[in-house]
Amino acid sequence: MNDMILQEAQRLGAEYVGFVPVGELSEAENENCPFALIVAVPLPPEYLEMLTQPIGVQEAAREHDLFSRTEARIDGIADALEAYLRALGYRAFSQSERANSARGRYDGPQRKAALQHKTVARLAGLGWIGKSDLLVSPQWGSGLCMCTLLTDAPLQTQPATPLENQCGACTVCRDVCPANALQGRTWTKEGGREELFDPALCCTCLRCMSQYPWTRAYVRRANLSQGEGNR
Ligand code: SF4
Ligand code: SF4
Repeated sequence: MNDMILQEAQRLGAEYVGFVPVGELSEAENENCPFALIVAVPLPPEYLEMLTQPIGVQEAAREHDLFSRTEARIDGIADALEAYLRALGYRAFSQSERANSARGRYDGPQRKAALQHKTVARLAGLGWIGKSDLLVSPQWGSGLCMCTLLTDAPLQTQPATPLENQCGACTVCRDVCPANALQGRTWTKEGGREELFDPALCCTCLRCMSQYPWTRAYVRRANLSQGEGNR
């Protein structure tokens, strides 16, 4: 089953696919499903580099467009996998923006879904939740778009351990935020998003995401390997 889904997800364009046990989450989060799939695609390094440059309003809108399109693409992959699993006779619930809105699982004013992708990503061992309230992965920093899907299909899940939070004394995300939307506090399971981030202030400028040390490291690695490839 895992191999079939992996192949289908990769055929659809996912670069990362995780199989995650979510039985311990609340019913509101897991919709009574024991498993989740998480799919992700990294954002292009040159795009992340561009986001760190000072820009005008028009350029900002254009730059934001690629992020929105990538989010829509990964949402579409989760929706397609939902249809794929349902055709096989399993319960499956995509957590895409479209599907969540249709099922009343998205709080618009709070910009918060009933099950957050980063919750699943953390359980998958993909990364930790940073002071920015975004997932930070050692491989891509926060330069990735993710979506999830809940299912009762008999998946073999990875015994992953959530990664230790590695923000340490870093406060880059808070310092670059032009809207003072971030508090600069370390994420805890109990405190959740409310202690880190005020969605009402965030203008989705993506500065925090692109200027993370871990995102910058991903961009530097990509530039280096491209340079080596050009030799
Ligand atoms: S910028 Fe620094 S503090 Fe903020 S999430 Fe990334 S590593 Fe953590
Ligand atoms: S996206 Fe921009 S406004 Fe929102 S938290 Fe990040 S830096 Fe602040």
